[in-house]
Amino acid sequence: MKTTSRRQLLKNLGGAAAGLGATRHVFGGTAPLRNRQEPKDCALALEDYEPKSMLHVTETKVERARYPVIDFHTHLSGVDRSSDEPKMKLNATRGQVIPAMDRRNVRIMVNLTGGYGAALDESVRYWQDPHPDRFVVFTEPWYARFLEPGYPKLQADEIERARRVGAKGLKLTKALGLYLREQITSGPLVPVDDRRFDPMWEAAGAQKMPVAIHTSDPEAFFLETNRYNERYEELSAHPNWSFNGRDFPSNRELHEARNRVVGRHPNTQFVLLHVGDSENLVWVSEWLDRYPNMSVEFGARIGELGRQPRASIKFFDKYQDRILFGTDAVPEGFETPQQVFGDDLYRIYYRFLETEDEYFDYAPAKVPPQGRWKIYGLGLSNQILRKVYSGNAARLLGLES
Ligand SMILES: [Zn+2]
Repeated sequence: MKTTSRRQLLKNLGGAAAGLGATRHVFGGTAPLRNRQEPKDCALALEDYEPKSMLHVTETKVERARYPVIDFHTHLSGVDRSSDEPKMKLNATRGQVIPAMDRRNVRIMVNLTGGYGAALDESVRYWQDPHPDRFVVFTEPWYARFLEPGYPKLQADEIERARRVGAKGLKLTKALGLYLREQITSGPLVPVDDRRFDPMWEAAGAQKMPVAIHTSDPEAFFLETNRYNERYEELSAHPNWSFNGRDFPSNRELHEARNRVVGRHPNTQFVLLHVGDSENLVWVSEWLDRYPNMSVEFGARIGELGRQPRASIKFFDKYQDRILFGTDAVPEGFETPQQVFGDDLYRIYYRFLETEDEYFDYAPAKVPPQGRWKIYGLGLSNQILRKVYSGNAARLLGLES
């Protein structure tokens, strides 16, 4: 618009235009301007806004899961990389975890981040050996050795060794596709379907070790962090979670590469963590229809499933034999309230799965941490609950359910 015509427009608008600045926060469009109330505080920061729902809706307290639970996605320990020989780093002690499991009817926790090398041995010895009926430990790829000659075979051999030590599965973080580079931390990104990992996927299949794989992230993490981004607050709190720009592949490319891996290794069972792409259940359904060796787990994604309850109910109904319960629980993970291990976390998951409660928080936090919305319970049947809570995981882990 040219300056002259803009000036003319403002002139034509007259008084209304003059009052525009002062009334921009007043809602409603029909009352005469002079009757509108000036808001006292226009400058409430988004971070200070904590609206309380005025809905009078049912609140069902689910203290214990209706059936014993296998939590397929937890991080009870990790790897301390500060020394040459990998060491286990405990996130909690058995004494802290077991009483909470008993209170919430969690029979088994799967510690996905059991690590590799000596750290894995430690993790199995600490969690699984003394309580084989309560803890399961997974191994992870040893990326620090990626540049060693013969890495593909070495990594496959390490999977076999992990199985002998006691590991029951293999965990892949989103590092594959988004962090691991040719020179480990520099150079081009290594794609998810890089052939150098083929022997590893095959070894996992041969050892009957399911592969728990996290690929990509919420779609908003690939967009600019601006006023239109529905995860603006989450990305502002964690700027390094953004994969916008630079040399990152798109969300679609990451999932397609992972699907090629699943298709190439039909004798290996893959469990897509975080539902694969919880924002696109139509797409995930296509994958599940195409790949019989694929299942999904929903840790840290009830915020997504719960805001599309009708689609989610259909999804759980159709794929009831291929959905695993998981929370992505991290003891003391205070940066991510949707994952803090504890009684509240499990109460929310059980309420989501078992009740038809409406419009409640998906995380124990003052403000919904992944986005400002609430969720609706699915009210799943007993038959589906039994499978999702433990039956499907028990089958994949080779445990008696
Ligand atoms: Zn996780």
